[in-house]
Amino acid sequence: MYRLAEVSLNIIDQCVAQGVPFAREYGGTLDNRSFGGAQVSRTFYARGQTGQQLLLGAYQALLRQVAAGQVAMHTRHEMLDLVEIDGRARGIVTRDLIGGQIESHVGDAVVLATGGYSNVYYLSTNAKGCNATAIWRAYKRGALFANPCFTQIHPTCIPVTGDYQSKLTLMSESLRNDGRIWVPQRKGDTRPPGEIPMDERDYFLERKYPAYGNLVPRDVASRNVKAVCDEGRGVGSSGYGVYLDFRSALQRLGREVIDERYGNLFEMYARITDEDPYTAPMRIYPASHYTMGGLWVDYNLMSTVPGLYVIGEANFSDHGLTGWAPAPSCRAWRTATSSCRAPSATTWRRRSSRRWMPATPRSAPPRPRWPRTPGACWISGARGRWIPSTASWAGWFGKTAA
Ligand SMILES: Cc1cc2nc3c(=O)[nH]c(=O)nc-3n(C[C@H](O)[C@H](O)[C@H](O)COP(=O)(O)OP(=O)(O)OC[C@H]3O[C@@H](n4cnc5c(N)ncnc54)[C@H](O)[C@@H]3O)c2cc1C
Repeated sequence: MYRLAEVSLNIIDQCVAQGVPFAREYGGTLDNRSFGGAQVSRTFYARGQTGQQLLLGAYQALLRQVAAGQVAMHTRHEMLDLVEIDGRARGIVTRDLIGGQIESHVGDAVVLATGGYSNVYYLSTNAKGCNATAIWRAYKRGALFANPCFTQIHPTCIPVTGDYQSKLTLMSESLRNDGRIWVPQRKGDTRPPGEIPMDERDYFLERKYPAYGNLVPRDVASRNVKAVCDEGRGVGSSGYGVYLDFRSALQRLGREVIDERYGNLFEMYARITDEDPYTAPMRIYPASHYTMGGLWVDYNLMSTVPGLYVIGEANFSDHGLTGWAPAPSCRAWRTATSSCRAPSATTWRRRSSRRWMPATPRSAPPRPRWPRTPGACWISGARGRWIPSTASWAGWFGKTAA
């Protein structure tokens, strides 16, 4: 978390340089807003599509390297196996998903960035291609799997509608900033939402968690949504759904403001469900979304197979305090959603009502200034000493990109 807080501003700068259009205040500084699980506004955002904009920024930076001849893309290829030569990972075998050809690719090292395993739960918010096949194949070649300790269930997904869907659609968590979650008080109440009077509704998160209300952390919201549905108070044809209602926000802020904040999400919801969230509440239900645990890696992100590196959600990595910032390649994402004044209890303390500062324990010695290699990493050694890690990430990334 210390390292994350230290580098996160640089990551935001890099994202801006890559073209991510973060929202800004009138004076030009980055704007921030609140997010689930937090009572302060600490999140940089790009309207209701922060993740998507980060993805587009990363993608166009990648394509710039493709145009420069630094990266060759092989899209729609599935990794079938890992090639090992003399005990080291030296390549992969792939299948062209269009033509079916089997190909081999050789390299000095192999880097897997193949995502998490949420899809083992059948339907999840992940793309269908993120199905754990690559890490499973590496596991069969000797890469150990570690610490599958946590699966994040995201509360704001569009409920399942039928037997033939391949994934669940996530609605942005930001909707919980202004939307109010409720179910009918009475079991089996099938009246349309507009016909259920206020005193017959149960705003269960506001009732149970008055301090956080609808902004309780994802796991708390998800558990409570499931509980009310299991009680028989769920809404929609399946009974597995709760209302996310913008009526009060529309009355308080007006349609123009809501449209400005969430217009793109409302449009997406309307297209998928054929219901208009401006006139009827949205329906949402939790879905598995993010997994921790994966192939074991050392500090340089190398698995137990020499030469096989695993980055992002596919590795087990060091788990963050709250599950945020769990995997290095996810950090840009997580940074965007948690960098500003990241209030981790152990790494930051509040200096005044407006400022956060790192809370370095008095006993911790100051961090040494060497090595000066750009991007060199430090790890916390025994008795609080800082020691340089054996490799520089910048150097390592440079090598693999070539
Ligand atoms: C809908 C959604 C919204 C999210 N929003 C946020 C957010 O706002 N903030 C945040 O911090 N995080 C968010 N996350 C989580 C974050 O996006 C992921 O943790 C992150 O993208 C993981 O990055 P990755 O590079 O490790 O893997 P991924 O981005 O999952 O990429 C894995 C890639 O590997 C490919 N692949 C898998 N298996 C194979 C194989 N056998 N052969 C070849 N290719 C393979 C997949 O097709 C995919 O392209 C969101 C996730 C989802 C699904």
